[in-house]
Amino acid sequence: MLIIKVGGSVITDKSKYLAFRNPVMDRIAEVLSHIREQMIIVHGAGSFGHLKAKEFDLPGRISERTLQGMNIVHTDVIRLNNEVLQRLRSHGLNVSSLTPFSLFNGRRNYSLMRRLISLGVNTVSHGDVYVTRESVNIISGDTIVRDLARLFRPRRVVFMSDVDGVYDRDPKKIRNAHLLRTVNGHVTVDGVNNDVTGGMRGKLNAMFEISRYAGETVLMNGFHPERLNQIGTERFIGTIIGTK
Ligand code: ADP
Repeated sequence: MLIIKVGGSVITDKSKYLAFRNPVMDRIAEVLSHIREQMIIVHGAGSFGHLKAKEFDLPGRISERTLQGMNIVHTDVIRLNNEVLQRLRSHGLNVSSLTPFSLFNGRRNYSLMRRLISLGVNTVSHGDVYVTRESVNIISGDTIVRDLARLFRPRRVVFMSDVDGVYDRDPKKIRNAHLLRTVNGHVTVDGVNNDVTGGMRGKLNAMFEISRYAGETVLMNGFHPERLNQIGTERFIGTIIGTK
């Protein structure tokens, strides 16, 4: 099994509300359509989630405001999810989409996902909002991937982000940052908290944990999805996470 996380930074312009990058998702779908292994695809919410989440104080205790924000964010991420599904379907990928808001009643429940996986179905899920006893929570795509890796022990987990891999410093801020081919738990990374769900630091922590459950964990650039086919070769551009 393969788990692919498609970053919100890849398929949306994170600074512009509801800005979907249709051609980028189309190229990713094209590459995925040639894969013959069972797949779970998880996408981030990007500008369909973070901007309104911030505006409506999410995550936060249940209130009129957070409940209103919850509905806005969920409606928006469903729009993004629909765009993703359309692109996948146009390349012949028949997938079931599972939306956390409706799956999670207070706790993160993956039983339907488990059932569909056991039927051999390819599934899609995404970052979302969901309600617990006291609060409106956000679940990031990265956290979903971590949960799924723990449950399904995939052969490979691939994170597609808007950078070539993990660098020694934030490549968007430091011009001569150095791409790391492999990272293990001891590296210190100058990550930034650049959105609600934590930027590269949170992602790295999730990836380290995932690398304990998955055969291989990789971070690569989603703007160059064809690199997926080069993982394991000398030519591969990206970062392998964890030591195996
Ligand atoms: P995504 O939306 O793809 O899940 P995020 O936006 O949460 O990803 O995190 C990716 C961003 O993390 C990159 O755009 C990059 O600017 C930032 N970043 C911070 N530190 C690093 C680092 N050391 N190496 C790579 N990226 C980093």
